[in-house]
Parts: sequence; structure tokens; C-alpha cells
Amino acid sequence: MPQLQRFYASEEEFQRIHGQLKLLQCPYCRQTGMLIKNGITYGYPDKPGIRDEIRGHRIYCSKRGNRTGCGHTVGMFRSEFIRYFSLTALLLWQFWQGCVSGGSKIGAFRALGTSMHESGAYRLYRCLQRNHSRIRTILLRHSSAPSPPRTPDPLRHTLLHLKAVFPEASSPISAFQQTFQISFLS
Ligand SMILES: [Zn+2]
Repeated sequence: MPQLQRFYASEEEFQRIHGQLKLLQCPYCRQTGMLIKNGITYGYPDKPGIRDEIRGHRIYCSKRGNRTGCGHTVGMFRSEFIRYFSLTALLLWQFWQGCVSGGSKIGAFRALGTSMHESGAYRLYRCLQRNHSRIRTILLRHSSAPSPPRTPDPLRHTLLHLKAVFPEASSPISAFQQTFQISFLS
């Protein structure tokens, strides 16, 4: 029986998953038929005029009534967003590209045109540094790394690897989350 996925590409895809919830396994207790929709996760978009947007859904493994689920709540997320950040996957990708192409972190951050405070640039960069070897390990399971660039910057190398795995993707970080069903930053 297929397991509930953690990332989805669009609300249309989520609605399809919602229609099949009874047929999906809970990722915690592996029981089928216990999952029910339990709420929406909103985010605060970096776009003027929009107050909030749906970034995910919460799914509950029900132990109410005659159901024997485990009581865990499973978070599902749209792959174009980054958990715990208001920045989208596409903006994170642009920031990362800016950082490894020789510019300053603040410069790369300003180029995004986001209303986030600039101190976010350092937080984001530290997050990339903390996660990049984990990301590379996942990518290596999928395909070997491209030949090392002349500057042995590990963050740049990981970026090139991600680009090589998803050459057609406009947002390789969204493609990573959607394909591997794993959060890009942990
Ligand atoms: Zn369960």
C-alpha cells in the first residue's frame, strides 16, 4: 500500500491525494484507512497584497471513535516552499547562486528584493552550510557528482550537483523536495 507523501507540487495534486487518503499508509504506524485531513498550514508571503497563503496541510492518523490510528499528525508541504522560512525555494536558489558566484551574502540577499531583514542572509547561509553535506549525500544516491569546479567551494559544488540532477527545473530546490520527498533544509 502506498505511503502518504510529504511534499506535493500544487493544490490540485493535494486534492487528488486527499481523495485517496483512505488508501494511504500512515508513515508512523503503517496502518491504512486511518488518515484524515486535520487543518491547513499558512505562511506569510513576501508579496504585497496577499495576507497569507496555503503552504501545507496537516493530516491526522485518527484514533477517535472506532479508528485505531496512532494519533500522529503528519505535515504535508508544497514543494515550492521552505519549511520554517518565509522565503520560497526559488528565492533560496537565487540567493545560493548569488553567494557562490563571488558576491557578498548581503548583496545576494538584496538582489532578491525581499522585505525580510538583511540579518536573514546570514541565517540562510548558515542553514545552507549546515545542510549541504546532507543534501549532497541524497544527490549522490541519485547521480554521481559533476567534476569538481576549479574553486573547491563545497557549497558551489553542491549547487552544481543539484543543477546537474535537475537540469530542466526552473526551481531545482522545489524539484529536490518533490522528487526525494525530503525537506531541503532541516
Ligand atoms: Zn499512524
